[in-house]
Amino acid sequence: MNLPEMPEVETIKLQLREKVKGKRIERIQVILDKPLKGITVEEFKDRVEGSSIKEIRRRAKILIIELSTGESLLIHLKLTGRLLYLKPDEPIEKHTHLIFHLSGGRQLRFWDLRQFGYVKLISGELAEEPKLKELGPEAIGLNLDEFRRLLAGKRSGKIKPLLMNQNFIAGIGNIYSDEVLFYAGIHPARNVATLTVKEVVKLHEGIKKILPAAVRYGGSSVDDYVDLYGEQGNYVMYHRAYRRTGEPCERCGVAIKRIKLGGRSAHFCPRCQV
Ligand SMILES: [Zn+2]
Repeated sequence: MNLPEMPEVETIKLQLREKVKGKRIERIQVILDKPLKGITVEEFKDRVEGSSIKEIRRRAKILIIELSTGESLLIHLKLTGRLLYLKPDEPIEKHTHLIFHLSGGRQLRFWDLRQFGYVKLISGELAEEPKLKELGPEAIGLNLDEFRRLLAGKRSGKIKPLLMNQNFIAGIGNIYSDEVLFYAGIHPARNVATLTVKEVVKLHEGIKKILPAAVRYGGSSVDDYVDLYGEQGNYVMYHRAYRRTGEPCERCGVAIKRIKLGGRSAHFCPRCQV
């Protein structure tokens, strides 16, 4: 099972900006209150109903909906969460937990099969929110010098788990760590301390190329991910390593291999990635 990563969450962010920015949340229907963290349904409705959606941002894999009241909704989709933009006459699917009735008649529905996702209302400074505070810098925003410095601060550890550590750099998970490491020709289990200057440059280049490319294709639908319209992301067809076990490497023809690394699968070319 895979969490949506930066390209998937960024896709939803851009779609939300297009569809719900400026809309008023007229009413909230709570079918299951589990996604609401640390707040009663009554208080949640009281504080959110009647507010307008001012802006939509993303930090790591978290969506931030800024409200006209100065408060914000943090939304983490986790494994199976979906935000869906629907007409009111669309049937309410099983596992729909929250329905935001918006001005103009459309609805934003929060659906989550496994129920690990959350919609958390926060007041006060976003920068002080613990879920955001602990995150590392956005992978996509780092220039080469910053990336180099960050890696230089790590004396040991394997590169793939490090790239996936949101407190180290934010936005990259299982899919895109495999893809950027393939791009850079680096074995996922390589010790960070052994990376050459050239490899670090290549890795940075891979992040800068692959993440935006994936956003252009609406992200990768490998397990449950769908966008705001319930559509799949098409970047899967450009994957060169992730879940291509046994298929020939695009560069050298050798079969892509899969290994376990820190409890997750890593896919790589045993010839190209040293
Ligand atoms: Zn290869």
